[in-house]
Amino acid sequence: MNRFAQLDRKFVWHPFTQMRDWLKREPIVIASGNGSMLRDARGREYLDANSSIWTNLHGHNHPKINAAICRQLKKIAHSSALGFASEPASVLAQKLVEATDGIYDLRFTIYESNAKPARISKIENRKLEKVFFSDDGSTAMEVALKLAYEFTRRTRGKTVGRASSRAAQPKFLSLDGAYHGDTVGAVSAGHIDLFHKAYAGLLFKTDKVMSPYCYRCPFNRAKPERADAREYRKCNWECVGLVEKKFSAQKKRDNPYAAFVFEPLMQGSAGMVPQPAGWLRQVTDIARGQGALLIADEVMTGFGRTGVQSTINHQLSTSLFACQQENVQPDFLCLAKGLTGGYLPMAATLTTQKVFDAFLGEYSEFKTFFHGHSFTGNQLGAAAALASLDILQTKKSVRQRAQLQKNLQAELQTLWPLPNVGDIRQVGLVAGIELVKDWRTRKPIDLRERAGIRVCEAMARRGVLTRPVGNVIVLMPPYCTTAEQAAKMVSALRDSIQRVLN
Ligand code: PMP
Repeated sequence: MNRFAQLDRKFVWHPFTQMRDWLKREPIVIASGNGSMLRDARGREYLDANSSIWTNLHGHNHPKINAAICRQLKKIAHSSALGFASEPASVLAQKLVEATDGIYDLRFTIYESNAKPARISKIENRKLEKVFFSDDGSTAMEVALKLAYEFTRRTRGKTVGRASSRAAQPKFLSLDGAYHGDTVGAVSAGHIDLFHKAYAGLLFKTDKVMSPYCYRCPFNRAKPERADAREYRKCNWECVGLVEKKFSAQKKRDNPYAAFVFEPLMQGSAGMVPQPAGWLRQVTDIARGQGALLIADEVMTGFGRTGVQSTINHQLSTSLFACQQENVQPDFLCLAKGLTGGYLPMAATLTTQKVFDAFLGEYSEFKTFFHGHSFTGNQLGAAAALASLDILQTKKSVRQRAQLQKNLQAELQTLWPLPNVGDIRQVGLVAGIELVKDWRTRKPIDLRERAGIRVCEAMARRGVLTRPVGNVIVLMPPYCTTAEQAAKMVSALRDSIQRVLN
């Protein structure tokens, strides 16, 4: 066995992994990577079909990001943001604010014909203007939750004489199946029993509301078809009605929700659950109408992952965030994973001037946001992120993403003839393929059968690496993935499903 595989088995405890299973076999030891290709310690090559757990954007060993990190390394790797500013972190904050500018534009609000007319909240300047850096997706969410909590307590509190009180316990609403990270606050906002139940005693209570999982929606009266369930669903947008009900019920309790927490366009760890067009816009309008803040978790969806759209004048849209695709302007935008092109752990929570201002005061008032991590604003990470943003905004990258989106779509069609493929859900450059007992009944496969895991193991033997979410196989390749590589990913998946489930 490879020496590093031996050391790993002896000393390392892997995340989200049943280590008894892990210890049964020799692990793949990744030694190097280039573009969409990963190479192991034995020299075998694999395609990185989930962008190294949804982080990598432009491919591994990208010359521009490598060069940016090397340039920065010659100056300094890290200095503390507790007390000091730095060149790359300050420029990155500016670029992130610029990249998220102009999200909110009512002129482009388009609803599907059977959608309820949404309540349009009054236009207010909610431009994202301030950036709080942290380390990963979970901490980006912690920051947003803490800020929203304290902002609500301060702004909903009553002023009596010169002193202002703080409002009682602000509450959060998030989606069924939500996953926002593994730190305790992020877990509290999550609703995946399998991951979160064990820690219930550690958490603060949040409410959940139905997410629009069209394929398994009890309100969808359509019989299964060989198409994405969003396209053939028959419903009356009951899921939106439930969101409305939830908000009104909470308002009657005299403690309206402080914030609505969501992943825009697609919920990743819920099983790549995509939202039908118009859903996000409608529910966020409801939330706004009820005075709730919006916390958008774009840890997975950010930086172009949800695809390139043609605009009205047939140009390719360069919007980088899922919220922009439905013209939703959040009060908090949480970014991580792809922020550095997937190179280094770094995250950012963007918010508005209004939230920022609520934390201003005399030192002695102690209104400071008491939160921060040692590596906040890391200079190497910021240098990588700046290079990644530059690449993303080139015409070449936009065209490459549009092409990959089309290639994936075309390849994925070849999976429909398989009886164990229930639903294929693609949003831009992400796809989830839900495996079932039989597509005609949508009958789920018992998780204990490890169907998703076994299919991914078979794919690895065919030179393609990805990781399932339960029975959903995820394809989320780096943006540099060629047509041939995309075809290989899907054909490895097709062969593996046939091999494992037939
Ligand atoms: N939010 C979402 C939507 C995620 O997908 C993840 C990670 N998969 C997180 C938050 C947590 O990010 P991290 O693992 O970097 O803490």
